[in-house]
Amino acid sequence: MTAVILGGGVSGLASAYYLVRNSSPFQRIILLEASDRLGGWIQTSRLDNGAIFEHGPRSLRPAGKGGKNTLSLATELGLSNDIIAVTRNHPSTRNRYIYMNKKLNRLAMGGGFKNTFYKQPPFSQSVFSMVINELRAPVPVNDIEDESIHSFFSRRIGQEVADYLLDPVFRGIFAGDISKLSVKSCLPMDVLKLEKDYKSLIKGALRHKDKDDEEVYAMNDIMRATKERWSTWSFQKGMSQLSERLEDVIIRRGNVEIRKSTPCRGLEFDGDKVKVITDTESITADHVVSSIFSQDLSKLLGSPQEELSNLLNQITAVSCIVVNVEYKDYVSQIEGFGHLLPSSEDPCVLGVIYDSSTFKQHDAATYVSSRYTMMLGGAWYDELVDRLGNLQESTIQDYACKVLSEQLDIKIEPSAVVVTIQKNCIPQYFVGHSKLVESIDKCVADNGLPLSLVGSSYKGVSVNDCINNAKLTLKQFVHGIKKV
Ligand SMILES: Cc1cc2nc3c(=O)[nH]c(=O)nc-3n(C[C@H](O)[C@H](O)[C@H](O)COP(=O)(O)OP(=O)(O)OC[C@H]3O[C@@H](n4cnc5c(N)ncnc54)[C@H](O)[C@@H]3O)c2cc1C
Repeated sequence: MTAVILGGGVSGLASAYYLVRNSSPFQRIILLEASDRLGGWIQTSRLDNGAIFEHGPRSLRPAGKGGKNTLSLATELGLSNDIIAVTRNHPSTRNRYIYMNKKLNRLAMGGGFKNTFYKQPPFSQSVFSMVINELRAPVPVNDIEDESIHSFFSRRIGQEVADYLLDPVFRGIFAGDISKLSVKSCLPMDVLKLEKDYKSLIKGALRHKDKDDEEVYAMNDIMRATKERWSTWSFQKGMSQLSERLEDVIIRRGNVEIRKSTPCRGLEFDGDKVKVITDTESITADHVVSSIFSQDLSKLLGSPQEELSNLLNQITAVSCIVVNVEYKDYVSQIEGFGHLLPSSEDPCVLGVIYDSSTFKQHDAATYVSSRYTMMLGGAWYDELVDRLGNLQESTIQDYACKVLSEQLDIKIEPSAVVVTIQKNCIPQYFVGHSKLVESIDKCVADNGLPLSLVGSSYKGVSVNDCINNAKLTLKQFVHGIKKV
């Protein structure tokens, strides 16, 4: 039996890994990757001086099922000694800022318990008052299937929290607009259910226990993360170490052929088989695992799959510009994870990550420096392009450095700037997304298509989600085949 995996980002690589690891029935597994490299949005540049710039994901959270699973994977891949972690009392965990009214406002989480009773800018209420608001907020009489993040938090805590806290936080994660993003699909918990069951989100979050019934294979790094209280982690040589090691291990384990620079051009389903068309051949497969963006998959389907194609096409994604900046011989006075901007402050500038504050190990080895990453665009990409006038690298560099020097009061010229334009890089889970994904799954099942869907388009955009969803989807699939 032959399986073809479409896409060699972290979801495609994890799919290949778990198929091999779980003794799938496939004698032959072929992974097709359109570009000449693996990793997808995981893109690390390693400079000659030792500095590391991430143009995609830069850190992972150890918490939750997905977090534990990635730690377990790192152990299995023999990457334990390459993990770099920051703990919960590290300045980058304690200090997170909102840039508003042209200044940095430190979030109360970094200010100690007593500060929860004081008003802290940019909010006109203390955290304590917000908690009281939430505990007292009425529960809707009729069940709500889904609503926007903005609407949910406005009615539960207050519009100010939605506008100046949730708005920037989700611009930082989804690069998206919380008046459109789904509260059901974008949060790690089903907050609508918590509200319904416990009459309050806070009470629900405190009482609700996630069933920890997922199998994790290796515990070493999970235990280390718990004991040492990690809040976030990465790898010595950057995030690409994960995709590079996955590639090595998959190849060493035998029956996976990785074909780079080989885009899939079409899928033709015929009974329980599927023809996978590339520029040079047509591969007859027993199963296809698609890890590519849903709209890209939609274009590969022919007219018999028009319904599925139309459903897949409804999931959209936003584009971002990522600007990595290094200042040589400069040590920032501001320590923290970074700052985010509410869309009311400046829609086009999503935020700035203080890379050196979190992972000093990634600074140049030969001189003192401070590295930052500015994220621009997202749901406001078109507005950004209008503002810039053109997308020439020098225009973007000048703009990003000007904004950075204004927001962080940096008065020197940068020593290195790298601009990356990431088109359609973060899928947007709008209100109704979970229903749409259900319809997609149903359409695949009703038509008996030998197709599994993984990747960031469906059930979580974080690297942890992508890996964990690939694991769960393929475990279920292999289990199903073995039962038959
Ligand atoms: C700027 C940025 C910052 C981020 N920061 C974080 C972070 O800090 N932490 C975190 O957890 N997550 C972060 N994310 C999210 C996370 O990185 C992505 O959601 C995740 O990497 C997506 O992986 P994937 O394999 O599902 O998709 P992709 O990475 O998109 O991989 C899909 C692959 O399929 C290939 N492909 C496309 N079409 C075809 C075809 N027809 N045939 C064959 N191959 C094809 C593509 O070339 C690509 O390699 C970030 C994302 C971005 C863009």
